[in-house]
Amino acid sequence: MGTGRLTGGYGKTPGHGLGEETHIRRVAAALVDFTPVRTRRTFEEAVAQIAEQIAAGALRPGDQLPPERTLAKQMEISRPTVREALRVLAEAGVVEVRPGAAGGAFVTSEFVPREVLRRAAVRLEEVSGVLEARRLLEPRVAQLAALHGSEADFAALQATIDRQREIAGAPERFVDGEDRYMTLDVQFHLQIARATGNATVVELMRSLLGRLEIARDMAAHVPASIERSLAIHQETLDAIRAGDMARVETAMDVHLAQLEGTWEKESGRPLVREVPDFLRSRPGRK
Ligand SMILES: [Zn+2]
Repeated sequence: MGTGRLTGGYGKTPGHGLGEETHIRRVAAALVDFTPVRTRRTFEEAVAQIAEQIAAGALRPGDQLPPERTLAKQMEISRPTVREALRVLAEAGVVEVRPGAAGGAFVTSEFVPREVLRRAAVRLEEVSGVLEARRLLEPRVAQLAALHGSEADFAALQATIDRQREIAGAPERFVDGEDRYMTLDVQFHLQIARATGNATVVELMRSLLGRLEIARDMAAHVPASIERSLAIHQETLDAIRAGDMARVETAMDVHLAQLEGTWEKESGRPLVREVPDFLRSRPGRK
């Protein structure tokens, strides 16, 4: 089987990725060329790159892919995007993602179904559904937080913004920082939900944010947008703190419009449906 070009236990065929650990061919990252993703279709290209390495035979059944972190570094994308790409490939039966210390992503098939890329596209379309759902929920969540939030809640929100600002201030470490920046963004939005004092609201927001990993990646992928992102987070918090419901709604409107705009620009896809007027902020309305 093996040509010996890659590292590991060639000569022993690991049966469909279930071979003993010692037989697993750990593919040396340097020998499989993943290149920085330069197109705007970050997620789709990540899926395509991994699929191509398998179709070309550089990665074979039983092989363990380089760790998530390495893939993210090589393709210059975030780890959530790598995770999503692997998830799509796993759903198509091309790789298997095993949890645990000895886990990782393993190639399970040398055949890459053509539908893999279509699946990636479908996964992307879900994002605009989630963005629409945020329009339904999040402005009200933020207003409820303004009503019920404590000083401790507001201080926690400010601390999250401050940490994001620190990361944004060190662009040379952006690939590393990007991941933390996005984690903090999720934290910020969950903290707003927590400030409502309503556990159901927190669960709803957690579920929505969990489905947005790809979109978040795109939103944070262009460093220039980080400044805008920081500014709108600060304005959102200031409005909540001031207890000004109209201002909270406007801030949330701008915030979500930013996400939608970035999404359209970065994914090269329009939202599935346009945001109707009644979901946009009407300044002055209380
Ligand atoms: Zn945000």
